[in-house]
Parts: sequence; C-alpha cells; structure tokens
Amino acid sequence: MASRREFLRDVAAIGALGLSGCASVPHAESDPVKLPERDEIVIRNAFVMTMDQKTGDLPDADVHLRNGAIVAVGRNLRAGGALVIDGHGMLVLPGFVETHWHMWNALLRSMSGDKREYGYFPTALALGRAYLPSDMYQGTRLAAAEALNGGITFVHDWCHNIRSPQYAEEDLRALRESGIRARFSYGAAQGHPADRTIDLADLERLARHWAANSNEGLLSLGLAWRGVSTGASGSVSASAYRQDFDAARRLGIPISVHANNRKGSDAIALLAREKYLGKDVQVIHATWVSQEEIRALAEYGDPVSVSPYTELRIGFGFPPTGEFLEAGIPLGLSVDTTALSGNADMFAIMKAIQNVENGRAQSEFKLTARRVLELATIEGARSMGVADRVGSLEPGKRADLIMLNTRDLNLAVFSDPAHMLVEAAQPANVDTVMVDGRVLKREGKLTALDAGQVAREARAALSAVRQRAGWW
Ligand SMILES: [Zn+2]
Repeated sequence: MASRREFLRDVAAIGALGLSGCASVPHAESDPVKLPERDEIVIRNAFVMTMDQKTGDLPDADVHLRNGAIVAVGRNLRAGGALVIDGHGMLVLPGFVETHWHMWNALLRSMSGDKREYGYFPTALALGRAYLPSDMYQGTRLAAAEALNGGITFVHDWCHNIRSPQYAEEDLRALRESGIRARFSYGAAQGHPADRTIDLADLERLARHWAANSNEGLLSLGLAWRGVSTGASGSVSASAYRQDFDAARRLGIPISVHANNRKGSDAIALLAREKYLGKDVQVIHATWVSQEEIRALAEYGDPVSVSPYTELRIGFGFPPTGEFLEAGIPLGLSVDTTALSGNADMFAIMKAIQNVENGRAQSEFKLTARRVLELATIEGARSMGVADRVGSLEPGKRADLIMLNTRDLNLAVFSDPAHMLVEAAQPANVDTVMVDGRVLKREGKLTALDAGQVAREARAALSAVRQRAGWW
C-alpha cells in the first residue's frame, strides 16, 4: 500500500497537471459550515474606541453583547451570566468596513504581470473566463477569510464574473458560510458583450427571493454597474447600461460604478448630465476628477470608494482624499483586487491614505489618523448605507467589533491609539473578530472557517483555472 506521503505527492501531481478533469476540480466540502452561536459576552477592561463622536474613547471599559447586538458600552457594566473576555492590553473598536472588492479574483493574488499583455485587465479576463462556479466560491471564501483575519467585518463584494446564475449562487454561498457582513453587487461576466445587458431576469429573481440569501440580514444586494466607462470588451452600449441601471432602480437596490480612473476621463460629468448620479450610486476611484465633477458628486450625494494600493500599483494616480472630504462626500476605503494589491490589509490601506494625502499636501498635519480611522469604520459604513447598524460601538447597533493585542512587539508601548492603528498595526495583531455577535476569530485563529482548508482548496482551484486558461 502506498504511504500517505506518496498518496499526497500523487494528489499534488495530479492537481498540478490538471489531468483528472472533473475529479480534480476542488469542490467545497459538502457539509455547510455551521456558524458559531451568538453567546452573551462581556469584554472587560479594554481600551474601547467607540468611533461614536459623543462617547469617544473609553480607557479601561467594558462592552456587553447579547443576541448579536451591543447592549452597553461603559465602565463596570453589570452583565451577570455573560461569558467574560478579558480585555486587558486590548484595543477594541468597530470592525473595518471595506467598500469595493472583486472577491472572486482573490485566487489571482499578485498575478498582475510586468508586461501589458499580462497586466491586471487581460489577466482577469483570461482567467475569469476559465472559472467554474466552484472557483467563485473558492475565490470569495479566500477573500472573506483574509478579510475576517485582518479585522474587516463588512465587505462590498463587487462580483463581475457572473457567467451563469450558478456563479452568483456559489459566490453568495461563500459569503454566507464565512459569516461576514456584505453587500453583494451583481455584475457582468468577464468578457460579457458590450452591447448586451447583464442577466436581468436572474438579478430580478435574486432580488425577489433575497431572504433566502441574506443570512439573517447580514447580506444585501446591489448592482455592479459597468456604467459608461470603457472595459476590456469595449465601451458598454448606451442601451445596455441604461437597461441595467433602470433595472436596479426598479428593484430598489443600490448601484456602484468605476469612473474617472484615467487622466482626461469625464465619465462623472456624463453620469451627471444623464441623471445617473444619486445617493444610491457609489462611484469608485475618481482619481482624475474636475472641480465640477466633485461638486456634482457632493450635490447628488454619491458616496466614493478609494483603493490606494490598486490605484497606485496600476497607475490610476493618487486618490484625491482631501478634495472629497472637503466637499463633504461620503468616503470609504477599499481593497479592489488582490491581483494588484497583493493583500487585503486595511491597516496598510489606512496608512497609505494618510501618507499619500500628506505627501500631496506637503503637510504633516493634513489628514489625521483619527479621521482615517473614521473612514475605515463609521464613515465607510455611512458610505455603504449601513451606519444605522455598524461602524461604531453604540447600544442597539449590531455587534461587529475587533480586538487588537497591544502586547505584540509592533504595538508595544501605548501611545496614541489612533496613530498606532493607522501607522503601526497589522492583521497579525487582530486577536478577536466578531460579526453580528458571532466570534469568527479568537486568540488569533479563525473559528468558523478552517484557514488551512481555505488556502489548500484555493491553491488547487487556481492551479486548475490556470490549466484551463493555458495561463502560466
Ligand atoms: Zn474595482
């Protein structure tokens, strides 16, 4: 009988060669992941940053949670019967709110190459076309696991590779099984014809039966709109983008669109002219934006999402964070794609936002760490329309929070906690993560997802996708 080691070697070889066809396609294990129960919990004696302007920071305070909601925040709370988590040496704050991320292509981590033909767009197109529905599951589950591990409790899953209804189903299944809070935005497939609408019947079906997908209200639905920009398959025809947009408005779901990421682009001006702006239309990037366009965004109330690491890496330029904030535009921070950014580290994203803005302004004092932390929490939540539920630690809100261990070397010595979070903290410092009162990371380890299994299956899925795409 072959030894276990030989067996594993053979399995690896088959996976690498992609020889076994369907049998080698990694399917998710069939038992659905059971999410942890929502215990009644009290976190004792932590440094609590509520991100609620009225309450501010509370050194040596408690947070009491029950049935997935925050019951109280304060000193010496009475919480008899609640499970006690020791908060000594811990920073407690709301979970991070991420505002635009192509989670499906997390399998393509760091795959944007060094030549034009291997850049992000051709890579996402070629490999996206080779995806099976199960690869959507694998990519999105990997992204959700990385998000939770790094303290991101809300994601905007901008799903633009829905090649059939099953692709959306598999993507949603990954979100549900991870326990994360998310907006799932339904988009076109990679390479979708520019003169055709998305599958509007499928979008409508999902919207009408959303309760089956919402994971008890954790997930909501939106439209990942191609808009008026030029994509890999050319400019989307006006008839197609109009029908997609109108369908979302009819269904009452929010819309999100990439715009103005290249010098000379005036897509936002066009959106304003054609009456496509509004509070329900999130605009992504807008790195090249005129004064009139900023005024239009502010006037119509459009939130904006910036993703410094992809904007810098791909050459979209510098996010005009200061201009958006000065105009009062709701602003959120985003990962966009780990094919370009490499990782989904919200601490690094915050640091980049502050450093780029201060560098542009040639000022040490332009953008404060506290303001950046707001963008990653309460302000990001406002920009996604979920600030009534998450983004700050207040009684009545849902219990989405994180705990960071300040005893780790890179956080040791306690100075200004907002500065520490933006400048010094890393995902490895995230000790505990809760979403809707469920503990999804504890003492540095994911609880609902098996990190080893997620990584192993994602690796096998990418290997098969590359094989099918002939992309090495
Ligand atoms: Zn994007």
